Amino acid sequence: MRVAVLGAGIIGLTCAVELAARGATVTIFEKSQPGRGASWAAAGMLAPAFEAANQPGQHPHLFELCRAGAALWPQWAKRLEAVSQMPSGFYGKATLAVAMSVDAEARLRALQAAMVSKNIAFEALSPAEAMSSEPALSGKMRSALRLPTDMQVDNRATLRALLAICQRSPRISLILQEAALKLKEDRITHDGFDATLVCAGWQTAVVSAFEQGQRFRLADVDPVLDEIDCYGGQMLSVHRSSASPMTTIRADDVYIVPKTDRTIIGATVEPGRTLDTAEAHVIADLKQRAAEICPAIRDVEIIETWAGIRPGTHNHAPILGQTTSPGLYVASGHYRNGILLAPLTAQIMADMILDGSVMKLAGAFSPGQFMSAAV
Ligand SMILES: Cc1cc2nc3c(=O)[nH]c(=O)nc-3n(C[C@H](O)[C@H](O)[C@H](O)COP(=O)(O)OP(=O)(O)OC[C@H]3O[C@@H](n4cnc5c(N)ncnc54)[C@H](O)[C@@H]3O)c2cc1C
Repeated sequence: MRVAVLGAGIIGLTCAVELAARGATVTIFEKSQPGRGASWAAAGMLAPAFEAANQPGQHPHLFELCRAGAALWPQWAKRLEAVSQMPSGFYGKATLAVAMSVDAEARLRALQAAMVSKNIAFEALSPAEAMSSEPALSGKMRSALRLPTDMQVDNRATLRALLAICQRSPRISLILQEAALKLKEDRITHDGFDATLVCAGWQTAVVSAFEQGQRFRLADVDPVLDEIDCYGGQMLSVHRSSASPMTTIRADDVYIVPKTDRTIIGATVEPGRTLDTAEAHVIADLKQRAAEICPAIRDVEIIETWAGIRPGTHNHAPILGQTTSPGLYVASGHYRNGILLAPLTAQIMADMILDGSVMKLAGAFSPGQFMSAAV
């Protein structure tokens, strides 16, 4: 089977590697720089509990999808390392969710209640217990939860390993240009391919198809794709010191994610923002809020600042499946969980494209089901 994959972010690359491992011949089309979109900008948290256990308005099955996605990561990371002979960046240590104020404590309790109802393992910690586990935390912290389900990965290392496989594999080609999609009688065609999988991140709806010299958007063919929108996010990384945190720390909308050579601090969520540059005042605010959680951050220098653009839908769920145009598939809209969901997405899409089978959990995320799953 000849499959075209549009977009060389983590979703397109993991799908390409999975499809090729199952015998397909894959051509990846990338219109910009491979692996430098949202997937490069991400913090790399694999956080089903914090991101999906208790978020209002989300798809009713998103937590199940995220939990299944997290469960795949340890094995998938080993496989990635074996095939690429490079580090996957996977780091299996638990996350600490902390409350710095009375209001935040109430939100942490709500998360705790949601986790109890969903049977998610966690450990409630007193401030003293949390600080003995993570001495970088501020003494002003009021309470904490240890979330063993929520891990992390150095997503840039993962991208390097995936790209290395794609470059070496005789079954995968990477072409740095847009694919030549045609539109004929409300159907997208793509010469030379049996299936086309669109993983173009926040630009999925506006991928071009041409009919008699006129340009159309994919969302003109399947309007559900217009659900995939952009959510900008600004972040920074700072140098590490002996007092830097060793644990991923979540406190409301600020997170601190230690990597081997830097600490990442994030992130804003800005619907509609498509700029890929960070603003100084936003970065200063993030750093200051991180320093309230871990005081040592106040004195360390910034290494890098950046902004990325998440592809997201109104209920934070990805759209996974065949569009109204037979043979045209989509895997996009992963919002804040694209790194977490990449290995599972690849399995789901490979099952669908190569075997025509839909994993039970995936049915609720198909383009056809998507709108009816709105809550
Ligand atoms: C600040 C920030 C922090 C985040 N933190 C986390 C986190 O901690 N954990 C987590 O799980 N997720 C996180 N995310 C979300 C995650 O990064 C995304 O969900 C994920 O990277 C989406 O992957 P993608 O491959 O769909 O998109 P992208 O990585 O953006 O890749 C899409 C690719 O498609 C290409 N493309 C676009 N149009 C076309 C076209 N017409 N033809 C060919 N190619 C095209 C683009 O150039 C790009 O390379 C974060 C995102 C941001 C921005």
